[in-house]
Amino acid sequence: MPPHIHISVDRLRRRRQTTQPPASGGEGRACPECGTHFRAEELARNSRVCTSCDYHFPLSAHPRLDHLADDGTWTELWPELRPADPLRFVDLEPYPDRVERAERSGLREAIVIASMRIGGIACLAAVMDFGYLGGSMGAVVGEKLTRAADRAAERALPLIVVTASGGARMQEGVLALMQMAKTIVAVEELRAARVPLIVVLAHPTTGGVWASFASVGDVTYAEPRALIAFSGPRVIEQTTREKLPETFGRAEAQLAHGQVDAVVDRRELPDRLARVLGILRRPAEPEPGAAATWAREGRQRAARAAQALPALSKRLVGRGGPNGDAESTVHEGEDG
Ligand SMILES: [Zn+2]
Repeated sequence: MPPHIHISVDRLRRRRQTTQPPASGGEGRACPECGTHFRAEELARNSRVCTSCDYHFPLSAHPRLDHLADDGTWTELWPELRPADPLRFVDLEPYPDRVERAERSGLREAIVIASMRIGGIACLAAVMDFGYLGGSMGAVVGEKLTRAADRAAERALPLIVVTASGGARMQEGVLALMQMAKTIVAVEELRAARVPLIVVLAHPTTGGVWASFASVGDVTYAEPRALIAFSGPRVIEQTTREKLPETFGRAEAQLAHGQVDAVVDRRELPDRLARVLGILRRPAEPEPGAAATWAREGRQRAARAAQALPALSKRLVGRGGPNGDAESTVHEGEDG
């Protein structure tokens, strides 16, 4: 049995009394950018985007899936997977107590896998939720993402991943860190199967999630102003003692540096995904026997073309084509 792990928590305890976690629930609130106040239902109607300044409020996994899926219809896969506590980890409180509190939000983990259709195209979606332990990746998040990639490869279903995460889940130690390697292998196999991976980076996408599957999409979108970085600006400033620009790690800066393909307003995301899925869709499997029909038709077309060829070449030459020298011999008997 491994020993209990305790860390110094006085500093954390003081900070906890003064800071609140970012809200991802449905309560009414003021826009932190422009101060406009919204009721919960107003925000929900506008996909939790400020109608005055386009600030994107955090969006939790279930309303995100409602927003993306055709008719808001989706089916969750593997909801039964629950985190274990192999290290019997205790910081401010035992890890199982944290998990229990996080589950009161109605989520069972920091990622939800669902099958759905977007723009009529069947696909799988893996949506992370910052409201559940900071969207952190532990063994269950890694396992669910891996299963989603496996199933997507097996059934040739495009995989859409929406990330919002502080990184690896500290309470699971090295078991959380190894999910980076595990998920990378899973999405590499998806690539080998030639099935598209589309990543949408929501605020924030950092640490081990950005350093693994979040940064290897075939197409990568980001929500406006989302922080996308391995380390947050505060950590870097404390380490390097240098002031970073305001834009550090923001979606727009990552776009300018070629790390993302487009910054997409959340309200336009379902249409944008439908369009890219349509472009990447594989041609439908031919009907049984269709290949033989195509081959026969192809042979007939080729035979007709071969018959027409002498007359065609005569016509071309007759108009002074590149083989003009041969004109006198071929020109005889030209049918016009
Ligand atoms: Zn605003």
